[in-house]
Amino acid sequence: MPELPDVENVRRRLERWLRGARITAARAEDRNIYRATPRSFAQKLVGRRVETVGRKGKWLRLVLDDELLVFAHLGMTGDFHASARDDGATERFERARLEVISGPKKSIVRYIDPRRWGRIVLAREDIPAWTELGPDPLTDGIDVADLRPKLSRRKRRSIKEVLLEQGVLAGVGNILATEALWKAAIDPRAPAASLGDEDIRRLARAIPWAIDRQLASLAKGDVDDPPKAGVARRSRIDVDDPPKAGVARRNPFLIYGRKGEPCPRCRTPLERFVLGGRTTTFCPRCQERRRR
Ligand SMILES: [Zn+2]
Repeated sequence: MPELPDVENVRRRLERWLRGARITAARAEDRNIYRATPRSFAQKLVGRRVETVGRKGKWLRLVLDDELLVFAHLGMTGDFHASARDDGATERFERARLEVISGPKKSIVRYIDPRRWGRIVLAREDIPAWTELGPDPLTDGIDVADLRPKLSRRKRRSIKEVLLEQGVLAGVGNILATEALWKAAIDPRAPAASLGDEDIRRLARAIPWAIDRQLASLAKGDVDDPPKAGVARRSRIDVDDPPKAGVARRNPFLIYGRKGEPCPRCRTPLERFVLGGRTTTFCPRCQERRRR
């Protein structure tokens, strides 16, 4: 499932393609993705100009010139591709498209989603899925004073599970939580309320660290052209399990998906267990639960 860095990477591409561009045609015929009529999609969007391309957590938000908002969530396998030419074809797994013009440049931006768990919503004001999100660690930063009471209210829940609650911090998923808790040397099973001020400060630094690492690794592999054969290549399928044999993809993470490998800090073999239904890799030495 795409996490904050994946969605931010998509946002940066969308910004290059869409900011300042005028929409000349719009199509969304998949009712799983866009739940109103295809006709309303075109009627509301054609002729509008895209002013900003924003993001909070895993949600994207376009602001258009008449204050219409376009929200998009990538679900499990969503992604946006752009191309300069229209060869008339619908790309495989294409669920929606915007045709836009920016100066002399025309392009087609397609929403691709093999498993169709994404959403596109048009609205005049922010939708609850957006307003209910906690602060975004990248754009809002992490305020320790704001985070502390949120953690102490969750008496029994583990810190790992609490980090995945989108109302606590927006956009943190299984990978970010795994990497950040390792960096901060916190046991993922520790009750959220048991974290001390110093733990919370380390965690507040570790989350942006993990985001920056992932953004850098995504940027290295990034290209503007859509992948061939309609495969949503950049959409990361939730790899709770390590990548399948035969898939030549390097694991870009330090901890995630590396059970049995030596901890990068202390060389102890990393272990894995299931917590709240999600696999969690951790170092039994660096992240040992301390007595409090
Ligand atoms: Zn270690």
